[in-house]
Amino acid sequence: MHTNEIDELRKLLPLRIERLADIAYDIWWASDHQSRSIFRMISRYHWTLSEHNPISVLLNTPRSRFDELAHQPEFLHHYDALLANYDLACERSTKWFATEHQESLGKPIAYFSAEFGLHSSLPIYSGGLGILAGDHVKTADDLGLPLVAVGFLYPFGYFVQHITTDGDQIAEYHDLDRKGTAVQEVLGSDGKPVIISLHLDNEQQKLHLKLWKVKVGTVTLYLMDSDLEINVAADREITRRLYGGDKLYRLRQEYALGVGGVRALQQLGIEPAVYHANEGHSSFLFIERLRLEMAKGRSFHSSVAHIQATSVFTTHTPVPAGHDAFAPEIVADYFQETIRELGISKEQFLSLGLHQEEYGEAFNMTSLAFSMADHRNAVSKKHEEVTRKMWKGIETPSSNIIHVTNGVHIPTWLAPEFDELLRMAMPSDWRGSIDDPDFWKHVHQIPDVLLWHVRSQLSRHLGRYIGDLLRKRAPDDDKDMITRGALYNPSAFTIGFARRFATYKRALLPFRDKERLAEILNNPERPVQIIFSGKAHPADEGGKALIKEVWNYAHDPLFRGKIMFLENYSMHTAKLLVRGVDLWLNLPRAPLEASGTSGIKAAINGVPNLSVLDGWWIEGYNTKNGWAIDSHEGLSEEAQDALDAESFYQQLEQVIVPMYYHRNLENIPTEWMKVVKESIASVLPQFSSERMVKEYVKNLYLPAERA
Ligand SMILES: *Cc1c(COP(=O)(O)O)cnc(C)c1O
Repeated sequence: MHTNEIDELRKLLPLRIERLADIAYDIWWASDHQSRSIFRMISRYHWTLSEHNPISVLLNTPRSRFDELAHQPEFLHHYDALLANYDLACERSTKWFATEHQESLGKPIAYFSAEFGLHSSLPIYSGGLGILAGDHVKTADDLGLPLVAVGFLYPFGYFVQHITTDGDQIAEYHDLDRKGTAVQEVLGSDGKPVIISLHLDNEQQKLHLKLWKVKVGTVTLYLMDSDLEINVAADREITRRLYGGDKLYRLRQEYALGVGGVRALQQLGIEPAVYHANEGHSSFLFIERLRLEMAKGRSFHSSVAHIQATSVFTTHTPVPAGHDAFAPEIVADYFQETIRELGISKEQFLSLGLHQEEYGEAFNMTSLAFSMADHRNAVSKKHEEVTRKMWKGIETPSSNIIHVTNGVHIPTWLAPEFDELLRMAMPSDWRGSIDDPDFWKHVHQIPDVLLWHVRSQLSRHLGRYIGDLLRKRAPDDDKDMITRGALYNPSAFTIGFARRFATYKRALLPFRDKERLAEILNNPERPVQIIFSGKAHPADEGGKALIKEVWNYAHDPLFRGKIMFLENYSMHTAKLLVRGVDLWLNLPRAPLEASGTSGIKAAINGVPNLSVLDGWWIEGYNTKNGWAIDSHEGLSEEAQDALDAESFYQQLEQVIVPMYYHRNLENIPTEWMKVVKESIASVLPQFSSERMVKEYVKNLYLPAERA
């Protein structure tokens, strides 16, 4: 008999405070400042050491400390308030969806994604796509949407980035400590862990996938794990790494995600009303649905029509390499058994996903999703146009491509210091009005001095984090110290540039004219510093070369320590950066940024954007809430780069830096604070994930459910 993880953890705690275990196993805490502060109160040391992992705090803090806390009135007061709040949050019936859409969706939406970014202690995400999925799940919980999510538990996660003194990225994989993470075994009615099995290819050996679950308030995320002793060695690898391996590895992984995911839900007795494929990685779910529909005796055409009407697909990138495509023969091999069972020809099967690629015809996961899901969307207005051009001919009168512009989960990304300030300065609890633009106009009434105080605090937090990293690492030469931020100055104007290192993001653009950049940075009265951070995919040699180049600039004497690089960009570092810098820089080569979300996270924390007009910024920029670099689509790359770099230098020199350093008698930059306030007031409601998920409900989920 397996005991459940929460019970085991409870047993370690005094009865009076045993429900700390429930909270630790509910990722709900990740966006609840009250619970985060309770775990910090228990042990600041273990909270910091574990980079904010409650389970780790509960497992590692000495028992005597809990006995002490169980008798401390102040602690118990916090504990009781937290529990009351938590129990309320676990009640779906009082939330938005239940009150607005009572009659709809008795059955859930099944949301499939290859990655989920919920918190850095659960490293099953690589970047923007995963964090969007995590924010979607958290918001579904906030809104009381009946949703179940499906993905993988990657025991080796995405890699941890180390950078050598020479600027070479080293990818390290750490084995996930399942016991120290908020994942629980899914147990069947017999009390044993649930394991599903399927045939890959026509191999003799079956692939077994163990099911785990992660609780996010009222939403459950199911994670499949192939790293089991009963699996043959090659199969154990299937879910070990996120985006690891070669093409065949990806195909096998995506087979397990789509086909395995549908089987897992079936085994759990969950019958979704709507299936949502977040990006094409999970598109094979549609093939498994086809098998299930036809097994009920439905014809091929009627099954396809039913699946189309009840499926949602979101595409996320205009970059061709972001759309997985496989050799048709190999896909047909993997689905040999299914094709036979469906009684259709191989050609008919392959026609569902065939697409003309640069190198010839391939089976493309995005094509498959488009042919099986009638409810489809891009992730910004501009991206909708680009997608339409890119996938000519896939629209029919009944299935247009629409857009739902990305948003971010405000309770996750807004600094706790702002939470406190807003509770005091706004007319009512901001959590009740997240997507209401009128409510956020009140930000303009907050006294500058209070807002500026928070902004300064956040810069100091960032400085402390950089200092901690340096001390932990103790670099042995000055060059390395400087590169890693030893000369960070919390009162200097700080620009943040943090994202995946891919060529289209143009991390090197600021260095086009090095002398001019040095001049901007080294002005003694108005110093400017730039912090870079980001990973390159381990197989992306171009991306790694970019990191190395930035790394070398960081200790170039020309810049005198004003350029720095933070290793291992994660949700944890992202939070510190988007809150702690003064300006967020984004330089994509338009129109390749589908949406982008880090700029939104910065904007809501009073960090205005300087960004190329692409993705979300086309919709977000209003001339008063930040600065825009015109996009120069259609010109040669060289001409685009030259114009964009010129615009970057000019705006910094003439407008942005002077405005930041223009202070009143209290040393507050009053003009700058107007931009800060406008940034929060205009971006927060419009680019919140509340607005986003409500649009998914209205424009995609409900129409698909009604079909
Ligand atoms: C938000 C976020 C991203 C995505 O940022 P973009 O602006 O879309 O590049 C990537 N990684 C992390 C860790 C993030 O928090």
